[in-house]
Amino acid sequence: MKYYDCHVHTKNSHDSQQEAGELVNGLIAAGVSGVSVTDHLDTMPGSDESFADNIGGSFEFYRDELKPLAEENGLDAFFGVELGDGIRNPGFALDFPSRYPFDVILGSVHKIYLDGGNFTLYPQPYESFSAEKRRHIVATYYDDVLLTASTLDIDVLSHLTLINRYNGYPLTSDIFDSEFKDRINDILDTIIRRGIALEVNSKGFEGGRLMPDRYVIEEYFRKGGRLITLGSDAHRGVDIGRGFKETARMLREIGFKSIDYFKGREPVEYPIDAE
Ligand SMILES: [Zn+2]
Ligand SMILES: [Zn+2]
Repeated sequence: MKYYDCHVHTKNSHDSQQEAGELVNGLIAAGVSGVSVTDHLDTMPGSDESFADNIGGSFEFYRDELKPLAEENGLDAFFGVELGDGIRNPGFALDFPSRYPFDVILGSVHKIYLDGGNFTLYPQPYESFSAEKRRHIVATYYDDVLLTASTLDIDVLSHLTLINRYNGYPLTSDIFDSEFKDRINDILDTIIRRGIALEVNSKGFEGGRLMPDRYVIEEYFRKGGRLITLGSDAHRGVDIGRGFKETARMLREIGFKSIDYFKGREPVEYPIDAE
């Protein structure tokens, strides 16, 4: 079947060196038909918008280097952004989508407000925190994701349950028997109501964890959620499309008939074939 990787970073993200050639080779090697460039834009409070300076470079890279090379190879390329922590500066976050011809805007939470300060989710010495502090971090994370999903102009909610990857609490489907059940249900209800897609992020695939975990994806399906994207979150070509085949099989088991990518900020469905 065809696959689209809707979450990929390039040399225009602070944590990636990826050039167009590496990216296109990665697509070909993984058997992925199309990609959305989604470089980081981690929003900060205040009127100084220099945190967004890299996105101009990301767009030029997409337009002048990646798209021509992708097309030469019969592949699709789309322009997007990973809008991190947009709730830190909602005025900016709501205006920004009109500044470039985006195909897709991912909404992410990478840091939370904790006890009056910024708390970046990674890296942190979670093992040394008290159970109460860890519980508080998880609760605040889900509050911030809910605010992201309910107030921002985004197309895809990225790596829901990211906090589990780092914090290790709670690690199982007990999350639905825990105090976080209502928050996760609210987040899923909100994205369904607003037509925001749920990203299945395969960054942790080799470690056996998708984001969100399977039971959250099942809950989304039960509630009627059908918009879903695949994102490897690759920062290197070799990671593009990681685990997509297995993930598509899992989605089919759950009941999904199709997966989506975004073009001009509208979802485009493609079928999940039996393989
Ligand atoms: Zn992210
Ligand atoms: Zn990312």
